Amino acid sequence: MYPREFEYVAAGSVEEAAQLLEDNPGAKVMSGGMSLIPMMKLRLLSPELVVDIGRIPGLNTIEDRGDHIAIGALVRQRQIAESPLIPMALKTAAAQTGDAQVRNTATFAGAIAHADVAADTPTAFVALGGTIVAKCVDGEREIAADACFVDTLTSALEANEILTEVRIPKSGGGSAYDKLGRRGGHTDYSVAGAAAWVADSSGRECRVAVGGVGTIPALASGVMEAMASGASPEDAAERACEGITVLEDLYGSEEYKSHLAKVFVRRALEQAMANAS
Ligand SMILES: Cc1cc2nc3c(=O)[nH]c(=O)nc-3n(C[C@H](O)[C@H](O)[C@H](O)COP(=O)(O)OP(=O)(O)OC[C@H]3O[C@@H](n4cnc5c(N)ncnc54)[C@H](O)[C@@H]3O)c2cc1C
Repeated sequence: MYPREFEYVAAGSVEEAAQLLEDNPGAKVMSGGMSLIPMMKLRLLSPELVVDIGRIPGLNTIEDRGDHIAIGALVRQRQIAESPLIPMALKTAAAQTGDAQVRNTATFAGAIAHADVAADTPTAFVALGGTIVAKCVDGEREIAADACFVDTLTSALEANEILTEVRIPKSGGGSAYDKLGRRGGHTDYSVAGAAAWVADSSGRECRVAVGGVGTIPALASGVMEAMASGASPEDAAERACEGITVLEDLYGSEEYKSHLAKVFVRRALEQAMANAS
């Protein structure tokens, strides 16, 4: 299907893009276009204006800023997968995102803005506990990873805001991500997946996130509480879906997805603890 007619502007700067969003309510930002264009073709989105930020200089770098890693809005999933600066959970999630063509075009920031619960890198981002920087004509704000996702395909970004940077804390320790892809392997959207960060090999101080099973990639607070009180990863993983409404979809029943979430929480924790030691 073809999208409805729309205007297209390639912005030359973040300021120009922000002004275009301000002046054109309902306009959509485009980074890699890997999710926006299919949504427009399916007519799930019909913006009158597409603001392409893909040619804005200076947004495609990964920088070590001492206490955090700064990832520009145009950094592709492939760059994330290959960078030595990126923690293992996020590298793995990026490496397991689609095929080479997808990873070469799709941006990590675009995946966060798109807020698909079945996406891989957003789950790793929630476990690593970073922030995003959102800019509009009035200035900028930082949003914490676990406040970035509001509902199905809905992030905390306002319609006039551009996500310009993702910040990942340099917390040390170890991290890991694991999932079941829709076609049984790794390189596809996740049916269910989990990411874990641990401060050390005991795993007591940790952040764990579950993706694919509810409406948003969510922190598994029950698991974190159990690990803090000394439970084994296997016992803690029993609480993987506490506080999450698990939804049945084309890829699995509630029961199956809840089971997968436990399996991947345990595996992610065990691997993160091994990576920390
Ligand atoms: C064939 C295929 C297979 C895929 N497989 C996987 C997979 O296995 N795992 C997985 O996790 N993902 C997968 N994806 C999704 C892919 O990772 C996302 O399409 C991508 O990350 C979105 O990034 P993008 O730069 O293309 O965003 P776009 O398509 O440009 O934008 C997506 C949405 O985010 C908004 N947006 C984008 N950038 C910004 C910004 N900087 N500020 C504000 N809003 C913004 C847009 O307005 C739009 O609503 C797949 C996609 C395709 C097409």
